[in-house]
Amino acid sequence: MSSKKVKVRFAPSPTGDLHVGNIRTALFDWAFARHTGGTFLFRIEDTDTTRVTPEYIQAAIDTLKWLGLNWDEGPEVGGPNGPYLQSQRLDIYATWAQKFLDQKDAYHCYCSPEELEAVREAQRAANVAPGYNGHCRDLTAEQIAAYKAQGREAVVRMRMPDGTTTFTDAIRGEVTFDHKFVPDFVLVRADGSPLYTLAVAVDDILMEVTHVLRGEDLLSSTPRQIRVYQAMGVKLEDYPTFAHLPFVMGQDNAKLSKRNGEVSIAWYREQGYLPEAICNYLALLGWSPGDDRENVTMQELTELFTVEKVHSSPARFDMKKLEAINGDKIRALTIDEFLRWTLPFLTKAGIITGTDAEVELVKRALPIIQERIVKLDETPALLKFLFVKEFAVDADAVAKISDSASKDVLKRSLKELESVSTWDHTSIEAVLRAALIEDMGLKPRIAFTALRIATTGSTISPPLFESMELLGQSTCISRITAALSL
Ligand code: GLU
Repeated sequence: MSSKKVKVRFAPSPTGDLHVGNIRTALFDWAFARHTGGTFLFRIEDTDTTRVTPEYIQAAIDTLKWLGLNWDEGPEVGGPNGPYLQSQRLDIYATWAQKFLDQKDAYHCYCSPEELEAVREAQRAANVAPGYNGHCRDLTAEQIAAYKAQGREAVVRMRMPDGTTTFTDAIRGEVTFDHKFVPDFVLVRADGSPLYTLAVAVDDILMEVTHVLRGEDLLSSTPRQIRVYQAMGVKLEDYPTFAHLPFVMGQDNAKLSKRNGEVSIAWYREQGYLPEAICNYLALLGWSPGDDRENVTMQELTELFTVEKVHSSPARFDMKKLEAINGDKIRALTIDEFLRWTLPFLTKAGIITGTDAEVELVKRALPIIQERIVKLDETPALLKFLFVKEFAVDADAVAKISDSASKDVLKRSLKELESVSTWDHTSIEAVLRAALIEDMGLKPRIAFTALRIATTGSTISPPLFESMELLGQSTCISRITAALSL
């Protein structure tokens, strides 16, 4: 690899929410920059104005921030090589395209979309590799004048010489492309807008990027980018080092795709995955720290990340593993951190409005659910019983407390609970066990299920006695009284 100070970039085209594959790339880029003490550059590739929207750009920026993947150069923070939105650099690409035309590295191509389709059709019929057939490579002045007279508009196409391109990929080793399969390619559309291959190559050079770590889907565009470097007159030692990361496959072995809801990072955020969990899990998708640990902090990732430890075979996305890691990360939070993450879920679900008293109660309740959840979006259902204004027992649970045995449990509990003087879970448990289990001889499951339903409204709740403590004596008594009349 190059001995220059590392600069690695993450360069998404935000045509939708960033997905798992993008973020795995961003994470590896970031970790590589941090590990080497280099620069992490963030560039927005928004030249395709038909598909990129300002909302998606903002969402990409927010997602990186949310994940803690802070960048040294890019949108909002600026830097010496800006602007970092390609839509603000159009004149730069136009200048280079003109230079390539002047140097005869590129040429104007007047073929219409219909003519190009006819060429492809013929290639398919003849079973030869599809691609531009070089029709406009060497047009005479008369031919050009004739095309112009017909009112045809031209694209700018790069001339791809015969031969091969070979480069050493830091993950895959030496890779060679035969130009038979890399036809002359478009740099600038007829409307003057640049294509990805032109913009990405020009920017990587002008922004002094030393390393391009990106998804394997872009491997085949590398010879074209190298062709642009050549036309720019870049010296071989100034080419960035390429490292193509293995695909992330879905559980079913199909490629994860943007059209699939579960791949969007926004979705994981809404479901209550913590950024540390997502980063931890994605770090292990295609990379390993050198041992079989599954818990990797951001700090450890930056210490241990090397491209040599990236695998070249595809990684399989495993939702169960992500859930397990998320549960671990939730359990590792302090109560204050847990509170900070949980409150937005409770307010969004309409469980609380956010008053000091509510927040205080949530904080007291969190220790009893911290062990039990794997995602933050489980908290509203678990804590709802503490905040409902008009308490009601779940429809499917009513029948379970309407029989005479349950009524007996509730009647006796009511009597015992009215006389508890210190309302804490140990006293509540002691009193109820003595009365219901020892005295009445009931099975704990029978006795406590009825109480759980009567006080929390559901058969599923956090631990019963702790829940009752949080509810308070008078609320428990009034709920049990109400349950008796159901
Ligand atoms: N903008 C490209 C994309 O999102 C990636 C550019 C690159 O990493 O070379 O697909």
